[in-house]
Amino acid sequence: MNVSEHIEAVYTEVRRRNPGEAEFHQAAAEVLESLTPALERHPEYIETGIVERLVEPERQLIFRVPWVDDRGAVRVNRGFRVEFSSALGPYKGGLRFHPSVNLGIVKFLGFEQIFKNALTGMAIGGGKGGADFDPKGRSDGEVMRFCQSFMTELYRHLGEHTDVPAGDIGVGGREIGYLFGQYKRITNRYESGVLTGKPVGWGGSHARTEATGYGAVYFTQEMLATRGEDFDGRRVVVSGSGNVALYAVEKVHALGGRVVACSDSSGYLVDEDGIDLELLKDLKEVRRARISDYVEAKPAARFSARGRVFDIPCDIALPCATQNELGRDDAVALVKNGVRAVAEGANMPCTPEAVAVFREAGVLFGPGKAANAGGVATSALEMQQNASRDTWSFEQTESRLAEVMRDVHTQCRTTAEAYGGNSDDYVLGANAAGFLRVADAMAAQGVI
Ligand code: GLU
Repeated sequence: MNVSEHIEAVYTEVRRRNPGEAEFHQAAAEVLESLTPALERHPEYIETGIVERLVEPERQLIFRVPWVDDRGAVRVNRGFRVEFSSALGPYKGGLRFHPSVNLGIVKFLGFEQIFKNALTGMAIGGGKGGADFDPKGRSDGEVMRFCQSFMTELYRHLGEHTDVPAGDIGVGGREIGYLFGQYKRITNRYESGVLTGKPVGWGGSHARTEATGYGAVYFTQEMLATRGEDFDGRRVVVSGSGNVALYAVEKVHALGGRVVACSDSSGYLVDEDGIDLELLKDLKEVRRARISDYVEAKPAARFSARGRVFDIPCDIALPCATQNELGRDDAVALVKNGVRAVAEGANMPCTPEAVAVFREAGVLFGPGKAANAGGVATSALEMQQNASRDTWSFEQTESRLAEVMRDVHTQCRTTAEAYGGNSDDYVLGANAAGFLRVADAMAAQGVI
């Protein structure tokens, strides 16, 4: 069997064994398609079944999460934790609370996380979890009771050397606080490093909140620099308005760019003066409101419930909302309007068809595994601080983050050049570089 037949056979088995998990199939195909040159150079990885083992999670947990709402009614959600790979360190990856969460979504995210975490160069394996719980419109008390019930089941699988969750969509500092409190109560251990994304002040790291958005902008800055360009004076569209989007906007503005549009699930917002970040932060982080409320405070801005945010002309697009939010038509519109660079702040926001359009047009494209690795990298820095009972300054932590992003960028380019001959192929570079680091560790640790 040659290398392409081997890869095809693994993919066929992934589809057979995981029926109905469309996002997981998509994430697996995206990585597998990049592995031919790496496997041709390392036949030992085929002999030791590295790829077959990688696509099968080490452990998958599905559990009931019962809780009582404010009216006294019993609610039941489904919780997940997929512990995908511990080749490089404890399972590491966020928890997503969103009604769309199912096993296929958690597996796609967990699979991506293996390679992303490997690219950071830190000692972290890959995992992901969450629940089909919708925190929108829920009171603090309801969110707390949900988090407590979720942790009452999950705690037995966690530990600072075993599995270390963090946030993702629907899980921020508030939820991490409730989850940590319940873990501490059940285990009677103040185990700071068991969760990351904790608020600063009781074990959280400076710059963790900002890290994913900042990191995506640093990565884009590195991509632009390869063509002698930068953010200064550039028009930027950032989709989403959650944690990643907010801090991407902040860093773009700090670097002299202007974010003219952002979005949420209700529509999108255009502000030609540049998005007013303080206003947006207040809406999203404090009031937990919709972006449509922005125009009440700033009537010159425009909110649209219909249409697509990627139709707004821009030089740089940063999709920071959710998976498969940017399809072929969006990519065609962006290219037509002259987009120079696209970097994924969210996980897998661009469909394969959209990526093909960017590739064809020669647009710089930074895949999420590389471009949004800053969040989890800073989680690993939080673990380091917790392990040494130390607290670093914002500046020190941010400069480590910037260093990691530069290194991820360099790895992508050198690996793409070495394995495909085109250093602009960040998709090949990220997948192959992440894979090689994990595969090396797996080969050394035997068939487990
Ligand atoms: N959920 C984030 C991600 O997609 C962060 C995970 C973490 O910090 O563990 O990478």
